[in-house]
Amino acid sequence: MTSGLSEAVVLVTGASSGLGRHFAALLAREGARVVLAARRADRLADAVAGIEAQGGTACAVSLDVTDGASIAAAFDGAQAAFGTVTVLINNAGIAEAKAAIKMDEEDFDRVVDTNLKGAWAVATEAAKRMKAAGTDGSIVNIASILGFGVAPGVLAYAISKAGVVQMTKGMALEWAKFSIRVNALAPGYIETDINREFLNSEAGAAVLARIPQGRFGVPSDLDGPLLLLAGDGSRFMTGSVIAADGGQLISEL
Ligand code: NAD
Repeated sequence: MTSGLSEAVVLVTGASSGLGRHFAALLAREGARVVLAARRADRLADAVAGIEAQGGTACAVSLDVTDGASIAAAFDGAQAAFGTVTVLINNAGIAEAKAAIKMDEEDFDRVVDTNLKGAWAVATEAAKRMKAAGTDGSIVNIASILGFGVAPGVLAYAISKAGVVQMTKGMALEWAKFSIRVNALAPGYIETDINREFLNSEAGAAVLARIPQGRFGVPSDLDGPLLLLAGDGSRFMTGSVIAADGGQLISEL
């Protein structure tokens, strides 16, 4: 079966680097028109040019997920370029490594405002516009296995991602009647800017030792689950959270 994404207008948040940039190119290869959204749209020129060079269709919009006006403007930009966004890849996120006892309110707010409140605001904006346009929609929230389990030094991050898991289910429940599906992808450790330093440290080696498949992931390991959740293959799925983690969540105690 085809993914059905050739008809889609996809907006990817946090598309300037890492997984977001990878997902944008992947979805463009499926024939979707892709809107790459990040705080500095100029940094996206390169990614857009790469997609266009491969025969894809893409544009860039500026977006800070912690700023409501910026979210509305980004969706206006997407609408002007390609029409109503029908698929949202809610990917922007930050991580901060700090012992819980040393974390202050600012640290907490920075992570939760971006990863949870920001993801909530972007998904809600997308859903309002899908509903108003009367179009079917698919929202894929990028959670993490830290939404299920905990690790030292990432308390705010784990809280935010657990919130994203619960948010996915609540939105799915309320928005099914609008033909909007909401699912989440929960990656394990995939090497990107967000964790490169950690994965190459001694602590990273200890994590690696507990991954049943014996390796960290690469972005393309997420292609199958991402396309499944974004496209028609998951048409009877909503409120689902798929882990892609080399088996880390079922690691031996
Ligand atoms: P990354 O740092 O390369 O990408 C994160 C992106 O989010 C960046 O482009 C950044 O600019 C953007 N961003 C941050 N704050 C923003 C804001 N306020 N407004 C708009 N954009 C903002 O890291 P990544 O690994 O590609 O992470 C992408 C997503 O995947 C994140 O939500 C992360 O939590 C999640 N994730 C990553 C891993 C992993 O191992 N890499 C594992 C689980 C989940």
